Amino acid sequence: MANLAPIKLRPDQNYVAYFLTLGCNLRCPYCINLHSGKVTGAAGGRQMLPEDWVAAANRLILRDDLPLTLQGGEPTLYKGFYRIVNEVKGSIKMDLLTNMSFDVEEFIKNVPVGRFTREAPYAAIRASYHPGQNDIEELIEKTKRLQDAGFRIGLYSVLHPSPEKKEHILKTQKRCRSLGIDFRTKEFLGKWNGSLYGTYKYDGSVGGKTIGSCECKTSEIIVGPGGDIYKCHSDLYGGRDPVAHILDEDLAEAGIGSFKECLYYGRCNPCDVKVKTDRFQIFGHTSVEIKNIKGAKVG
Ligand code: SF4
Ligand code: SF4
Repeated sequence: MANLAPIKLRPDQNYVAYFLTLGCNLRCPYCINLHSGKVTGAAGGRQMLPEDWVAAANRLILRDDLPLTLQGGEPTLYKGFYRIVNEVKGSIKMDLLTNMSFDVEEFIKNVPVGRFTREAPYAAIRASYHPGQNDIEELIEKTKRLQDAGFRIGLYSVLHPSPEKKEHILKTQKRCRSLGIDFRTKEFLGKWNGSLYGTYKYDGSVGGKTIGSCECKTSEIIVGPGGDIYKCHSDLYGGRDPVAHILDEDLAEAGIGSFKECLYYGRCNPCDVKVKTDRFQIFGHTSVEIKNIKGAKVG
C-alpha cells in the first residue's frame, strides 16, 4: 500500500461512514438503498478488499466523540467484516448499523467488545427492526445475548405513519423497554398516501418536480463499497460523481467538504437534507448545506 497521508477530520465534519456493501438479505419495500438491482456502476458493482478497508480506516484520525460507522446494505454480509473489526488499529472506535441477521455466537466470538465501546448518548451497535422483514422475538433474544456478552446495543424502528404500523411499533417499544432493551424510533421519511413526510431544510430537494443545479457542501465522509467518496447519499446510491477515492495518497486536494457543483437538486436523499439531531443529540442539523439553487421548481 502506498504512503497514505492521514485524514484528520475538521471540527465541522461529524460523520464518517464506510458502506462495506450495499447488498442486503432483507427486502424492505421502503429501502433507500434501492438494493433491488437498481444500484449499479460505481456504487453497486465494485467492492474493496478487506486489507484496503483496513488501510482506509487506519489513516483516519478521529476525535474521541466521532466513530467510524460501518453500514450498508447489511455490513456484516461483507466477507471481510470480521477481519476489518479485528485488524484496524485500536484507537479507531466503530459504530455498526445492522439488521442483526448475523449469527450472534459467531459475532461474539469474533468481535472485540472494545471495538464498539465508547461514551455516547446512543448505542454503538444500532440494529433495525423492520416489521414483516425481521422477527422481533429473534432480535430481542440476540440483543440480550449481546448485552450479556458486554456489547451495548440499541434497537431502532421507523415510526410509519400508518396507524396500525405506528401502534405496533409503539407497543413493541414499550415491551422492549420493559425488558431492559433500548428501543428508539426514527422519523418516517418520504412519501406515503400521497403526502411527503419529514422535515427538510430545502424546498423541492426531495422528490422535487424538476431537477436543478446548485452548490452543495457536506459535513460527512461517505465512502461506497468500491472506496469512492461521494458528496451525499443520493450520489452514493446513484453511483455518480465521486469526488475522490479513500485510498488516494493525499486527499487534501479533493476539497472534501467544500462547496461542489451538483446537477441533481430535487433528487436529494431525505437523509442528507432532513432536519435532525447532530451527534450531541441537538436538533436542527442537516448533513448538507446548499446554495445557489437554479432551475428547480420548488414548493
Ligand atoms: S435492512 Fe436496511 S438495507 Fe436491508 S433492505 Fe431493509 S432498509 Fe434496506
Ligand atoms: S444537492 Fe442533493 S443530490 Fe446534490 S449533492 Fe447535495 S444532497 Fe446530493
